[in-house]
Amino acid sequence: MPFTDVADRVWVARYPQWDVNVTLVGGSDGLLVVDTHGSDAHAREVVDDVRRLGAGEVTGIINTHWHFDHSYGNRTFRTAYGELPIIAHETAAEELARWGDADVVVLPDRTFSSALALDLGDRMVELVHPGKGHTGGDLVLRVPDVDVLLAGDLVEESATPSFGDDSWPMDWPLSLDVVLALTTSASLVVPGHGAPVDRDFVEEQRNQIGIIAETIRDLAGRGVPLDQAVETGEWPWPRERLGEAVRRGYEQLPRSQKRLPLI
Ligand SMILES: [Zn+2]
Repeated sequence: MPFTDVADRVWVARYPQWDVNVTLVGGSDGLLVVDTHGSDAHAREVVDDVRRLGAGEVTGIINTHWHFDHSYGNRTFRTAYGELPIIAHETAAEELARWGDADVVVLPDRTFSSALALDLGDRMVELVHPGKGHTGGDLVLRVPDVDVLLAGDLVEESATPSFGDDSWPMDWPLSLDVVLALTTSASLVVPGHGAPVDRDFVEEQRNQIGIIAETIRDLAGRGVPLDQAVETGEWPWPRERLGEAVRRGYEQLPRSQKRLPLI
């Protein structure tokens, strides 16, 4: 059974392809599916698994961010369960419209800017945009009655979090501070990829991303040219994972914090 319960009416399935998590949150009105896997074929497998679980019908879809492995199954869920609302942060919807594969994508049709509470009948869940990070439009979903937080790819367990050409390395640590403020020492945090973790794990990852941001700020401030920055810095993670972080960080630093190299 791919879906295992991690708390009262919260089930997580971890799929080997892209090691991605799909989570279900149940209420008396039905199930919310949080992320829809990376293709029609993969999402059909998820729909089969939801039916095998027998916990009810899906009544809403959440995309934690625009990336394909979290959103390209939207259409399959609509085909299986009818015209479900697809909920995402407003920036995630824009990013998916701009960068997603138009032949595959079904766009979110219900968006929010900072926070949104959803009524599942006998329980409420909260969606919060903690700020920019892994992308410009990440959301976290909190289930307060069981102290569970779904973190999307702001937190990863099975690999170091991924800095892409759409990520915000200088903002990410501050966004994780907001995420941490939504958790307690007893919280269960479900990352976008890998096994569930606790608050200490998130704090540790926040600190590493914070060191990366500070290192980027320091290198730029000392006038180290971008093409030497990755090799010059001392990093908490393998440097081959940090090329985009450094490039994006240099781009995003305010002019006053960058110096031209002194020749
Ligand atoms: Zn992602």
